Amino acid sequence: MVSSIPLALSIPPPPDRARRVLVVDDDEARRHLFARVLEAEGHEVDLLPDGEHIFTHIHARPPDLVILDVLMPGSSGLEICADLRMMDEMKLTPIILVTCGLGDEESVVRGLMCGADDYIVTPSRLAELRARVHVQLRNRRERELLAWVRKRGASLRDAALRDPLTGLANRRAADEALDDALESGEPVVVVMLDLDHFKVVNDTHGHGAGDRVLQTVAARLGARARRGDLAARYGGEEFLVVARGARPEVAGAIGERYRQAIHEIQMPPDAGVTVVTASVGVASCDAVGGARLSRGRLLEAADAALYEAKRAGRNRVVVAGPSRYPPRPVSTEGDQE
Ligand code: GH3
Ligand code: MG
Ligand code: MG
Repeated sequence: MVSSIPLALSIPPPPDRARRVLVVDDDEARRHLFARVLEAEGHEVDLLPDGEHIFTHIHARPPDLVILDVLMPGSSGLEICADLRMMDEMKLTPIILVTCGLGDEESVVRGLMCGADDYIVTPSRLAELRARVHVQLRNRRERELLAWVRKRGASLRDAALRDPLTGLANRRAADEALDDALESGEPVVVVMLDLDHFKVVNDTHGHGAGDRVLQTVAARLGARARRGDLAARYGGEEFLVVARGARPEVAGAIGERYRQAIHEIQMPPDAGVTVVTASVGVASCDAVGGARLSRGRLLEAADAALYEAKRAGRNRVVVAGPSRYPPRPVSTEGDQE
């Protein structure tokens, strides 16, 4: 299976940005000192004298880091810290408690247990304050990147496995499904379909009309796919169905079902195209010899059968016989050339 992480990392992450620090401290001089120090570091700084309006403030101007005085009139820094930790939007936001008075071990432990990320007892050591803020913002950035990779990983992986024109699974998804099926040891049938004379559709009615035919065919194949079958757009006007668990005896019937599904398509009157057909090559996991085949050999066998179907007149199914070439035709409804 393809890992999503390298994919996610191949796209540059969102750039780091200026950080907003909220300082809540009743000591006006210290508030402004912190502001000067942090602004000199390139941060944006918001100041509050107490915790009274902190929640409305945070909703309006979400901070990237909070510096909270432990001792303030009204509610204490510890209570505010515990409340902030309950807020969803504060999950990634570091909180640093600062104090001049409460530096004993018990107070430090209590502060950290309230959910603070750090506890500074000598805030007058400004270089240390800068370093501690820096560390907390660095950790925050790492958590943000991890969350970003995780989120992008899922959606990138989905996008990487889907054909953008038709929304059907793409070649990569089909290859993965086929590898999984072959590894499992279950029987597997592959059905390779190539639209007949498709170039004429483009040449006569334009590329847009061709695209609409491809979308219609994809939708039809997707709708017809049984549980356990994966239908994919394998190339330009070539589709592949991986039928996991299907026995070789039913390979021809499966191919015929999908050939018919396409033949039954009725394009809207303004589409320019009326009849859509496909030639179909089918191979099963014992198509050559009976030993397990590699993906490459299985697809080669299906491709040879498809070529045979084209040669025999198109709009028909040819099954690659067990260890036997040329493959034998099972339906003869095609045009004559
Ligand atoms: P055959 O019956 O032998 O398969 O004939 P064909 O015309 O279908 O085959 P050919 O390989 O000559 O042409 C395939 C055409 O499919 C040519 C190509 O421009 C077209 N095609 C491939 N991808 C797309 C696509 O995404 N959109 C459109 N509109 N056309 C596509
Ligand atoms: Mg082709
Ligand atoms: Mg074709």
